[in-house]
Amino acid sequence: MNRQVLTYEIGDRLYINVTNRCCNNCVFCIRRTEKGVGYNLWLEKEPAAEEIIKSAGDAGRYSEVVFCGYGEPLMRLDVVKEVAAELKSRGAVLRVNTNGQASLQLGKNVPVELRGLVDTVNISLNADTPEKYVELCRPALGAKAYPALLDFARECKLHIPRVVFSVVQWPGVDIEKCREIAHSMGVEFRLRKYSG
Ligand code: SF4
Repeated sequence: MNRQVLTYEIGDRLYINVTNRCCNNCVFCIRRTEKGVGYNLWLEKEPAAEEIIKSAGDAGRYSEVVFCGYGEPLMRLDVVKEVAAELKSRGAVLRVNTNGQASLQLGKNVPVELRGLVDTVNISLNADTPEKYVELCRPALGAKAYPALLDFARECKLHIPRVVFSVVQWPGVDIEKCREIAHSMGVEFRLRKYSG
């Protein structure tokens, strides 16, 4: 009955589709594109942790298992933690792709809660100034979002083995300034081509 795509493979990685909710509405969001990621990731109902775990199967056989999907995975922090703990026990290497606003949104120190559960946190930086971030990512949390994202990254550096900032190549974004921000914080930098 339920044909929802909860997990999907791209190359040698497995991706987990946790939610369609997000507190951003980015102009370059892949959800807005016709092609998407090649799977229909729209959910009729958000999956329970057990459903995701069942769908992930032998997660240890992938090079990496990534919480990603069509939304912000950390909007469902408890589900991410439960799934991550189980998949880690199956030998999976885990990454969370996030907009970095979960601590502000949930009113808790989320990186501390992810400690020992995930190996990498990839935070979408996407702008070199708070103003540019608001313009491109249109966060529901407004001007607080960008500084919160930077604080989130600093906190991740204390608790998570690998922290990456990603930036979508988009007109008006100063890529070199983004790279400098990453460098000054000791965070890896990854430039992504716009897909869509
Ligand atoms: S943060 Fe990610 S999921 Fe949310 S709107 Fe932006 S690109 Fe889409």
